[in-house]
Amino acid sequence: MTKNIFSDPRGTAVGNAGVPAHLAPPECARRLARFARRIAKAGLDAFFVFTEVNRLYLTGLKSGGILLVLPDGAAHLYCDSLYIEMAREQVDFASVRLLRDFPKQFGPLARKMNWRKAGYEGSISTIRHKSLREAMPSVQEWVESENTLRELRAIKSPAEQAAIRRAVRLADRVLMDTLAEVRPGMTEWDIRRNLISRIHHADAEGESFDAIIAAGSNSSKPHASVTRRVLRPNHALLVDMGIRLEHYCSDMTRTVFFGKPPAKMKALYKIVLEAQRKAIAAIRAGKTGAEIDQVARRVIEKAGHGKRFCHGLGHGIGLEVHESPGLSSKNNTVLKPGMVVTVEPGIYLPGVGGVRIEDVVIVREGGCEILTAMPKELTCYPN
Ligand code: ZN
Ligand code: ZN
Repeated sequence: MTKNIFSDPRGTAVGNAGVPAHLAPPECARRLARFARRIAKAGLDAFFVFTEVNRLYLTGLKSGGILLVLPDGAAHLYCDSLYIEMAREQVDFASVRLLRDFPKQFGPLARKMNWRKAGYEGSISTIRHKSLREAMPSVQEWVESENTLRELRAIKSPAEQAAIRRAVRLADRVLMDTLAEVRPGMTEWDIRRNLISRIHHADAEGESFDAIIAAGSNSSKPHASVTRRVLRPNHALLVDMGIRLEHYCSDMTRTVFFGKPPAKMKALYKIVLEAQRKAIAAIRAGKTGAEIDQVARRVIEKAGHGKRFCHGLGHGIGLEVHESPGLSSKNNTVLKPGMVVTVEPGIYLPGVGGVRIEDVVIVREGGCEILTAMPKELTCYPN
């Protein structure tokens, strides 16, 4: 690992308005234009974006309110008063309006614009969905099109890729530094506390999800809760953690040992590492999520632990820690250049322990770029 990898994680991404390049107006304007073309193709007269994450993706602003996107590319951000000043400063590619009274503002607008067919995100609450219909009775058809945004978000622009790369590299450094200080006698909570403290000292927003810290046989639970269990000599320690940096997430897992690993765990480690390396080597544009999952699964099945690999191989990652596409036996999404996915095979033996190894990669035409740089050969601490 060179010093260069761990240079200032924020790099030179911050633009003139203090907005990072991956959420700056030119980037968002491109996303909105792409989204509007999809709306037009689907024959929608209007699309309402309610969820914070999709509003952030399309406007660069984590605001309250509603984003209205029209098929001709026009966009109107209706903010509540808490965000209006920020929105007017930051958003120059959409009109910014004050959200006052949803039915009074949108009912007459829908009639005036003669909207017949309108779209919304399926993940909105039933109450919100009901309020949409009631506010605009003149709209005849409501179409749930969550997938449109999911598909757009799955392919990351170069600026988004750079943002994820920075988050992953920062996580590499934080995890390595945290593990270097772990000693038998510490509890899982002690380790989690140190990890969180390092994340905050690194100027990141925080964890991208609650880290999993599993000592000894707790590591057999793929999503173990952090407990007061004490790390003992020769224990395995599974750490699955992520950092959110400038809104983009990282996600990595390492299973390490303190002292001498038990022979059984050593054998598991070898199988999981082989499965992970083979899956990564198979990733390229044109393959499906299911095909890549199968590469790793075959290695684990051949070793006799097929039933103990009880989850999919990986998932997309970006503004959210779990995004499209999934790498799993059920996912036939064709991988495309610019998709960013995790690769995380695992074997879990109840009462014994588990091993998972997780990296983040960017799909390329003829292969993939591995972002996670922390070594993954079997490591015993202190080293
Ligand atoms: Zn993870
Ligand atoms: Zn993951």
